[in-house]
Amino acid sequence: MYRRDRQPRAPRSLPLPNWIEPVYRRCLVCSSPFVANEELERVPLGRRLAFDPDRGRLWVVCGTCRRWSLMPIDARWEALDELEKLTRDRARLLSQTDNIALLRAGRIEVVRVGRAQRTEEAWWRYGRELAARRRKWKQLGTVGTVAAGAVVLGGWAAGGVSLFGIWLIMNNGGDTLRDGARWLRFGTSAWRGEERCPSCDHPFRALDYRDRHGVGLFPGSGDGDVDLVARCPRCGLYRDAGLRLTGDEATRTLRRILAYHHFAGASEQRVRTASRLIQEAGSASDLQRIVVRDGKRLGDLGRTGGIALEIAANERNEQHLLELELAELEAHWRREEELASIIDGELTPLPLLEQMRRTLKAAV
Ligand SMILES: [Zn+2]
Ligand SMILES: [Zn+2]
Repeated sequence: MYRRDRQPRAPRSLPLPNWIEPVYRRCLVCSSPFVANEELERVPLGRRLAFDPDRGRLWVVCGTCRRWSLMPIDARWEALDELEKLTRDRARLLSQTDNIALLRAGRIEVVRVGRAQRTEEAWWRYGRELAARRRKWKQLGTVGTVAAGAVVLGGWAAGGVSLFGIWLIMNNGGDTLRDGARWLRFGTSAWRGEERCPSCDHPFRALDYRDRHGVGLFPGSGDGDVDLVARCPRCGLYRDAGLRLTGDEATRTLRRILAYHHFAGASEQRVRTASRLIQEAGSASDLQRIVVRDGKRLGDLGRTGGIALEIAANERNEQHLLELELAELEAHWRREEELASIIDGELTPLPLLEQMRRTLKAAV
């Protein structure tokens, strides 16, 4: 069995500057060795670092216990300069609160205390993904099933279709390789569950992708939330009856349906226009609110509106996950900053001395 205390894993043997004494090469809390990074010359330690340029603090965040190790004060300054330069010139902002920002530069993540001055660019990530989907889709269209094996060898496997997948497609899938690849990836239903029509009690067990064009999008109860509504096949009612998905279930199903709907991806031009729509709306939530304001069928969205909605839905999801992580990071920062201020000697014991002096004086 693997025992960390008996078989410590050495950090990668990049040349470490002399100032990093052995004690600082490991987490101060759990003693796990920090992995080396190649992004920073002055702090080649750790995959996640935290720094506060105003107070001059620098921590390496442990990948095992997630606690923060304060680096020695005399060796911080040049490292802080390097980190500030890295986050200013090369890092991408992932998310931020009023107190801390989480940024990514190459393979490392940096928590910067203080608000970062840069615009949120997250939707360009999804933009790039949509453009990549389009290239793969085109690639699928240029080959017949006979050449499918060649596609696999050509790297399509990385995109989600294995040789076994090709076999499945040929036996179960749609008429073309594209249909089959989509079926293989998504299956037939965007949602499965147990719901009943509030009007006629008709049971709903699934929402199939092939019915997606008729799915209604309506404002949900949360900020920018979207409810999904399917017409009841028995009583014919819609909106106030039929199947209504809300909250997280609606969000998950919507993202799935949109990914299916845009299996062919989008051109860079369209992604750029869609991204601009989100920017002009103000945020991903604002875009969703505007798009579904009066209720709309998915089939009536139009190409650009649909792409914008997919980017916004993914962006909101990513933001949500980051916010959870950021709240945790902020709690860490508060605790570690308190400790750092003591370690760095800013909290002189004056109040305590003053109290003792008064006590003595009263006694005299
Ligand atoms: Zn640790
Ligand atoms: Zn009904």
